[in-house]
Amino acid sequence: MARVRGACDRLHPSAVALDDALGCVTSVPLTSDVAVPPFANTAMDGFAVRAADTAGAPVTLRVVGDLPAGHDPAGLFVGEGEAVRIMTGAPIPDGADAVVMVERTRVERDHGAGGEVVHVEVEVPVGNHVRAAGEDVVPGQEVFPAFTVLRPGHLGLLATLGMKRVPVFRRARVGVLSTGDELVDGPGELRPGQIRDANRHALLGLVREAGCDGIDLGIVGDDVDAVRGAITDGISRCDALLTSGGVSMGDWDPVKVVLRDLGVDDDAAMQVAIKPAKPLAFTVVDGKPIFGLPGNPASSMVSFELFARPALLGMMGHQVVDRPRLTAIAVDGFDRQPDGKLHLVRVQLRFDPVEGRYRCRSAGGQGSNLLRSMAMADGFALVPDGDGIRAGDRVEVIDLR
Ligand code: AMP
Ligand code: MG
Repeated sequence: MARVRGACDRLHPSAVALDDALGCVTSVPLTSDVAVPPFANTAMDGFAVRAADTAGAPVTLRVVGDLPAGHDPAGLFVGEGEAVRIMTGAPIPDGADAVVMVERTRVERDHGAGGEVVHVEVEVPVGNHVRAAGEDVVPGQEVFPAFTVLRPGHLGLLATLGMKRVPVFRRARVGVLSTGDELVDGPGELRPGQIRDANRHALLGLVREAGCDGIDLGIVGDDVDAVRGAITDGISRCDALLTSGGVSMGDWDPVKVVLRDLGVDDDAAMQVAIKPAKPLAFTVVDGKPIFGLPGNPASSMVSFELFARPALLGMMGHQVVDRPRLTAIAVDGFDRQPDGKLHLVRVQLRFDPVEGRYRCRSAGGQGSNLLRSMAMADGFALVPDGDGIRAGDRVEVIDLR
């Protein structure tokens, strides 16, 4: 795993449109040159007043103007004994230093002068319901450090700073290729021996879920030249490639042959002591990693999780690249025989709020060809080499949710 990660360099930083930057990682610290909020404004609908005028409330003040949000306060001034009707978000007019919420006031016509007066029921301190300029961000402030993963709240804040493009490590373009003479796509009737391609669709989903741009490279048959052509073409268009199928022990497995020509070190890269997903081929061509994932659908997804996902996240600047793990009680236990491998069992997780811990149980058939349990799984229980885990024992689970 470390070997794969070490071989994958971070992509160059670039400026990405704000609304395309969700999930991307900032490449530099981001500093504001403006204040947020840009001006002092009211947190409440009500009346802008001089706090001193409310001493000994109830008091009656003359209403000298209205100020909705978005309106320029120039020309309005709150003098002694005066108030301005003000809406949430409107600037505090000159002269005022506090706001009385509308619920603590009552307005009446001023029969003498023809205008309005407001009866204020409460005494308020200076700054009451006033949101200060720069309360959230002051000019010159670093708002987030480099290597921040941008979530929706970050995008909102960057928008308030007026940013249209954000310096991030760009998304990896990841090509996904299926290999196998037996594979077809879509609803048509299957000819004898044919099956439908599951891996490309699952892997494109995983790639996109990881924040990469997934590039569909289609299906190629079990022909070394055709596979070589598809991989060469993919490398020219993408930052990384995922293939599935054709990396098992069979001498005719074409992906293995092509990747060996391209530089895979045959003995080490090809076998991993896990189940499912033992075969794996990996090489780097022109600085671009190629993951030769196994063909069995569950295996290809497990391999992606363990090897490709951390590497791709690292390329995109992520500092945390592994899925979180938790400890759960194995409700039914997990039987197994010693075979020198770590078994990854697809499980469903349920949090028991009374006991304050997770329980897990098998998500269904665990064969490497079986996709239904993969679709149902919340995580992979890590069952170490040995005789398995008994009912009620604890097990470590990779949380996929
Ligand atoms: P292979 O590694 O190419 O020998 O494939 C192992 C098993 O996975 C075989 O049963 C293949 O038919 C199956 N397989 C390979 N690629 C896919 C795919 N894209 N979708 C579904 N099954 C596949
Ligand atoms: Mg095959």
